[in-house]
Parts: sequence; C-alpha cells; structure tokens
Amino acid sequence: MGKGDGLMDRFGTALNRPVYTGETAVLASMHGKEEAFAGPLLDLLGLRLTVAEGIDTDAFGTFAGEIPRRMGMLETAIAKARLALDRSGADIAIASEGSFGPHPHIPFLAAGVELAVLVDERRGIVIQESLIDDQPVYHHAEVTDMGELEAHLVRMDFPRHRLIVRPCLPGARGGATVKAIDDGKTLAEAVKAASAASLDGKAFVQTDMRAHMNPRRMTTLKRLAARLAERAACLCPGCASPGYGAVRMEGGLPCEDCGFPTGQPLHAIFECVACDHREKRPRPGQPEKASSVFCAVCNP
Ligand SMILES: [Zn+2]
Ligand SMILES: [Zn+2]
Repeated sequence: MGKGDGLMDRFGTALNRPVYTGETAVLASMHGKEEAFAGPLLDLLGLRLTVAEGIDTDAFGTFAGEIPRRMGMLETAIAKARLALDRSGADIAIASEGSFGPHPHIPFLAAGVELAVLVDERRGIVIQESLIDDQPVYHHAEVTDMGELEAHLVRMDFPRHRLIVRPCLPGARGGATVKAIDDGKTLAEAVKAASAASLDGKAFVQTDMRAHMNPRRMTTLKRLAARLAERAACLCPGCASPGYGAVRMEGGLPCEDCGFPTGQPLHAIFECVACDHREKRPRPGQPEKASSVFCAVCNP
C-alpha cells in the first residue's frame, strides 16, 4: 500500500475525520521511542503522546538476551500496551516490538521485523501495523582483540550505532556485559576485559538494538509509526471504527501468456478491527498480468 492510500475510503475519497483529535495516548517504552511515534500520531491523527512512567519493558525480553521473550511479537506488544494502560489510567496505549535475525523471505540476509500496536480500550479495538527493514544495522562478531574487530566496525556503523560487549563463554567468575558503548576507548577496554573473562578467549560484540542506541532502527520506527497512524485514520465503511485496512494479499493474478491464475497477489483483503466488514481491493499500481515464470501451466 502506497503512502496516503490508507487515508482513502473504498471510493477513493479522502478520509480526514479527526478520530483521535484532542485525545492522549501513553507510550510503553523505556528506549526513547517517542522520538519516532509522537510526530506521525499528532500529524495524522491529532493524537498526543505521553510516555508511561515506571514501566519496565525490558521485563518482556531484551535484545542482548539476558531476558528471553516468552510470547510472540504481537502478544508482547499488546501486553506492554495493556501494562501502560493499567499504570496510567489512560484509554489508549501505543507499544512496539522488534525482532532481528535471518530475513523471513530472502536467504542469507539479515532483517528487522518491527510491529506496533494501538490499543484503544474505550472502543475495544487493537490496531496493528508491521514492516520489514531489509538493511538494519544489526551485526555481531566474536573476536580476540580490537584488531580482529576492526573489520566489523564499518558494518556496525560504529560509533553512530552503539555496541554491546560480553564474554563469548563466561567462566565461573562470569564477566560483565557492557552496553551502549559509543567510544573507542570504552570499546577497547570492554573487548579486553570480555576476552580475558571468556573460556575461549573471545569477546562477543554486537550492535545494541535498543531504539535510542540504534539510529537506523529509530528511522525505521518513524516509518512504522506513520503507517500505524495512517491505518488508524482509515475508518470502516461499515461501522466507522478507526483501523480499517489491508490485512493480507490474496493470490490469483493471471498469467501473461495463458491467463491461468498464479500465486502472485491479485487483491488486498481489507478488514475492520471492530466488525465483520471485509472487502477485496486491487493493489494500487500492481501489474495486470503475472510473469509466466509463476504459472503452473506454462512453467509446471
Ligand atoms: Zn501460463
Ligand atoms: Zn467495522
């Protein structure tokens, strides 16, 4: 869906009824995500943002791995938002969750999956949006000294992006994890200490993926925030609830040579988060035919 499509109804009319104007949402974040979310929510929805006080979002899982995440991304984001609602007494909460690892569709590539939710208690709805960052600043290395680490620092975009250092194989004495490293001296000391404390003599160095430590991630979260706001601004044609939008693609685009339906996307399925209203819409700007490469008849 292109930018702005979420603000149209099914007849292509712009929807600009100010659903959330004058309302305030709480953000469940310890990591400065208001920098990403406040602007788009205010600009597109008129929704103001405050940061929920005293919420330990790290309890739901950390990127450095000390606390594993027990639930899926969506459940975790909703749980964070609900905790923020409980603590603040607000009606609307925003939370997001990220996951970094192998790309879900492309082999040998790393990707970041980012998901955000708007939980609206008064209307009884959850609006969710997600996206994939194909080029996250996400990297790790096992090194014995700074000389070995040098080759990795470009990919880690250090010092613009901060790093975490810990022993690869901590011995009985353990060895501290140092986070948020943004200068060469601290990095060198941490690598030396971690490799000395590790049973295999190696330090594990990784990009710190917390939003306020990773500018690339903050930029991606800004894009996600804009998409969440666009989705929330789109009203259901059936019940006028906010949060109407595409939930998945449906295959069936005809083959260019024989017309047989392929698995390539033909329609976007739109659904309401509050009622059963549902419709198929052509994807804006999509080709009319699929390449015969995808055809089961031409290319069995
Ligand atoms: Zn064909
Ligand atoms: Zn509806």
